[in-house]
Amino acid sequence: MIIPVRCFTCGKLIGDKWEEFARRVKTGEDAGEVLDSLGIKRYCCRRMLLSHVEIIDEVLRFYEEAEKRKEARSYYYQQ
Ligand SMILES: [Zn+2]
Repeated sequence: MIIPVRCFTCGKLIGDKWEEFARRVKTGEDAGEVLDSLGIKRYCCRRMLLSHVEIIDEVLRFYEEAEKRKEARSYYYQQ
C-alpha cells in the first residue's frame, strides 16, 4: 500500500527512495540499473522496491467516499 520506511530484513532505509525509483522506472529506465544508482545493493532491499504495488491512491478514494456518506448521513439525522 505505502512503501515501508525500512527493509523488512536488514532495516536499511528505503522509503525515501521509492519516489525516484517509481518515477525513473516509469520513464522507461531499467529497474535494476535504477536500484544500482540509488545504492540499493542487497537483494532483500531490492525486492522491497521491485515487488511494491502502490495502491494508496485507490484506497484513499474509497475513504473519501465513505467520509462523504458519513457527512450526508449526519446531515440527514440532524433534520
Ligand atoms: Zn535489506
